Order: sequence, then C-alpha cells, then structure tokens
Amino acid sequence: MSEGRDGTTPAAGPRLLAGGPIAAEIRAGLTADFAAFKERWGYVPALAVVLVGADAPSAVYLQQLLRTCQKVGVDGRLVEIGAEVTPNALCEQIERLNEDPAVAGIIVQMPLPAHLPLRTVIDSIDPAKDVDGIHPRNAGLLALGYSGFLPATAQAAVEILKRSGIDIAGKRVVVVGRSNVVGKPAALLLIREHGTVTVLHSRTRDLGRHTRDAEILIVAAGKPGLVTGEMISPGAVVVDVGINVVSDGQGGEKLVGDVDFESARSVAGAITPVPGGVGPLTNALLLSHLLAAATAQAEATARLDPATAQAEASAPVPVPARAAAGTVR
Ligand code: NAP
Repeated sequence: MSEGRDGTTPAAGPRLLAGGPIAAEIRAGLTADFAAFKERWGYVPALAVVLVGADAPSAVYLQQLLRTCQKVGVDGRLVEIGAEVTPNALCEQIERLNEDPAVAGIIVQMPLPAHLPLRTVIDSIDPAKDVDGIHPRNAGLLALGYSGFLPATAQAAVEILKRSGIDIAGKRVVVVGRSNVVGKPAALLLIREHGTVTVLHSRTRDLGRHTRDAEILIVAAGKPGLVTGEMISPGAVVVDVGINVVSDGQGGEKLVGDVDFESARSVAGAITPVPGGVGPLTNALLLSHLLAAATAQAEATARLDPATAQAEASAPVPVPARAAAGTVR
C-alpha cells in the first residue's frame, strides 16, 4: 500500500464516495416538492425523454430514469422515434413538446443516428425546457458563470465532492475528457468552485504525468480502466464518471468505470465506485432541474394570465397527434 500525502499509510483503504444515499436524500426532498407543486398548480409536470432508434444501453438507462420519475411524482414520457426519422420531422416533434404546456422538460438521448445534425436538433429544444443543459444558451450561461440548466452528469461529479465534504477551492483538479456533456461543463463548474483546473483529452501527451499532479481527479473518457493506480497521486480524490459495459469473463457482462478500481483503491484517498457513485446522483439532479423548470413555467403562465392559469393548468392535456413520427407514453 502506498504512503499518503502526510507520509502515513492509509490503513483501511480509500473512503468510498457513494452516490446512492445522496441521491435518496435529494429524491425524498423532490417527492415532497413535486407534491407541493401539484397542490399549488393543479397538475403533474412531465419530463419528455426522446429516444431516436432502438439503442439497448440507452433503453436500460431511460427505463431507470422513468422509474425515478414515477417515484418522485413526475409524469415521465418516453417519446420513441424511428431511427430513419428526417431532421425536419424530429425537430417538429421536439417543437410540439416545446409547445405542450404539461411538458416542463425535454431530454434527447445521445448518441443520435449519424444522419441527424446534432446542432440542429439541440437548437430546436426550448432553452426553458432544456433540463440537461445541452442548448447553447444554457452552455453559454454556464461558461459565463450565470445560472441556467446544468448538464446533470457534470453537476453530479461536482456535487458528490461537495456533499461528501471535500473542499475544491484552491486544489489542483484534473479532468480527463472534454465532451460538451461531461468533461467541459465539469471543468467549468470546478472553476466556479475555485479549483485550479487542467483538462486532458485524447491528444494529451503522457496522460499520467498530468493525472499524477491531481489532488482531485475527475475521469470521463468512456475508456474502461484508462486510469490505473500508478497514474494517481497517493491520497488523491478520484471521481469516476465512466460507465462501460464489459465482459465479466464468465459469459456475462458487468459495468466498470474509466478507472481501474482495483489498482486505484490502494493509492487513492477517496474514490467513487462504479456502479453506485456518480450514476445515481445524475437522475436525481435532472429531476431537480425539472422542478425548477416547471415552477418557472407555471409562474410565467400565471403572470401572463392570472385568471385562466389555474384552469388551464388543471385541464386534461390532449395527446399530441404525432403518431406518425413517434409514440408518446
Ligand atoms: P465522449 O463524448 O466519448 O467523450 C470522451 C472524452 O474523453 C473526449 O473528450 C475524449 O477526447 C476523451 N478521451 C477519450 N479517450 C481518451 C484517452 N485515451 N485519453 C484521454 N482522453 C480521452 O464521452 P462522454 O459522453 O463525455 O462520456 C464519458 C463517460 O461518462 C462515458 O463512459 C459515459 O458512459 C459516462 N457517462 C456517465 C454518465 C453518468 O450518469 N454517470 C452520464 C453520461 C456519460 P477527445 O475530445 O480528444 O476525443
């Protein structure tokens, strides 16, 4: 076992940063808040989850998200669209969700089939319903340090540190990955928390030279076992965002992160497990964004038309006539 920063040998291995209990706490608060929302505004807000094409890993993740919706009292609607949909038809479908007053938030599951232009699709989401913070407006607000919807996974990586009492201010923080949904927004959030942040990517030379410098290491590369124990400084805090499905060597499959847990655990001071680390927090945070979106939309409607707002909110929501492009359930 390696020596810690203070020269002592950690006797009991690293501290495990579990996301489950934190997520359960957030969900409990949300359940009460969504009940109060329904009481105040007379309807249950919906989260529309757009899935283009049949993608098995996404479907598993989305079923989990829909179950979480049910637990906290949100109307989770899976909008399934055939893989051959045209860009126009997909954008029209999203436009209809933008206009649906009961739909408070929209997420579009990535990756999209290659023929669909990502930027066009993202641009078609109403920024006020963009609860996973992928629209350029929300990304811009984050970059400038203003409040907007944050990408939930990036937020979860930072939130697990904060809620575990780990100080970020002044620390050398290294982020592996620079995607728009995880690495880049995580780096911006860590700067906001006053970390001294370095971002690594696939063109970085000698990854280990940089990762070993980290007091806090966030890994979001989508490469199983990319970061090994010898690339981690003794005592460092490691947040593994990666979720990879690999063979379990016995004919089955298992989930692993981007960090080689076995070699990392003998060096790190604290580490998130996969599964059970960042993952559970992501959905809980996404639904907290939905609550904020629903509340802002209900208040805006009431300001515009106080007399009819309550009646409109209570009215049954028509099922959109869009079966040709996809199904809503
Ligand atoms: P992505 O879009 O594929 O981006 C991966 C990033 O890692 C890219 O910036 C890439 O660099 C970098 N990278 C790839 N190989 C590298 C290497 N050998 N050395 C250094 N950097 C490397 O993936 P993502 O969407 O950000 O997701 C990252 C991971 O998080 C995946 O495992 C994904 O499954 C997981 N994830 C987890 C959750 C959750 O709830 N916990 C949610 C979403 C995603 P370039 O930019 O140079 O290509």
